[in-house]
Amino acid sequence: MKTKLTSLILALTAGFALAHEGIELGPNKGRILEFSTDETMHGEVTEKGGKLHIALLDKDMKPVKPEAHSVTATAGTRQAPVKLEITKDESGFTVPAPKEGEWLIMQYKETEAGKTITARLLYDTTVCGPCEKPEWRCACGEKEKK
Ligand SMILES: [Zn+2]
Repeated sequence: MKTKLTSLILALTAGFALAHEGIELGPNKGRILEFSTDETMHGEVTEKGGKLHIALLDKDMKPVKPEAHSVTATAGTRQAPVKLEITKDESGFTVPAPKEGEWLIMQYKETEAGKTITARLLYDTTVCGPCEKPEWRCACGEKEKK
């Protein structure tokens, strides 16, 4: 199973040079995604009851209320991508969690006419030994930097 999953991940990430690099956690211990090209906007992904919540955070990791901002989410596989239904409220965006081992691809726009920023998250729910968190929001590899 492990080998199968690894080859699947390799297939999916071919061309994604940044895959698995620099996992960062936010103020709510969620996974930080880059929603800008200059660190001015981030998404913080947390999980509750089988759903993922994406909050917007500014350059100082302070919450941003979604206004014209939009996020779309796709999971599934490259051969059969599945668009996920996303809901938006004052606290951010909510989307059904992808299946274990799938990539969640998010496309963020600050305004309708804005530039599309793509962020990816490998939804690996394998529990990490040292921190007891699922791998998708484990930052053990980042400890050296702190
Ligand atoms: Zn860990």
